Amino acid sequence: MNKGLTGTKESWATDEATRNKMLGNRNRDTKPELRVRSLVHKRGMRYRVNHRPLPRVRRTADLVFRPARVAVFIDGCYWHGCPKHYTEPKTNTEYWREKIDRNKGRDRETDDLLAAEGWTVLRFWEHDDPETVAAAIERSVRLRRKRPQTNLDGSDATTTTSCSLTGGG
Ligand SMILES: [Zn+2]
Repeated sequence: MNKGLTGTKESWATDEATRNKMLGNRNRDTKPELRVRSLVHKRGMRYRVNHRPLPRVRRTADLVFRPARVAVFIDGCYWHGCPKHYTEPKTNTEYWREKIDRNKGRDRETDDLLAAEGWTVLRFWEHDDPETVAAAIERSVRLRRKRPQTNLDGSDATTTTSCSLTGGG
């Protein structure tokens, strides 16, 4: 197929491959998020999937470790404006710019809301290596578990150890 292609066409091919990969990622079953979920599960961690860390706030995290109060978000490169992979569409530029900016603003707001309630927020890009992401999640959750709950910020040491956690993968 690429008989006629020489080195000069390489950059074009790379761009195109990246674009196809990005588009493909949106609908594929083996999303990076699923990979991360199954790796975290294999490490013996249990969590809730697509769950609201704060029930009264309509923000859903991809993985929620309630007892440790760790919320994990795996942001899509496109919708959350990844600096490495997001490229502005040539058409409707304004519309898309506003939309992505709104998403990013919402992400920051979510981080603030959760932090204010004593949660640790971990954010990753979907392009991050799933193994690395899973290791970082485990480290963070174990650290939070070790720390005496009373030290978090004085009060509110209600640990919800009762609920049975579901895992994915
Ligand atoms: Zn990316």
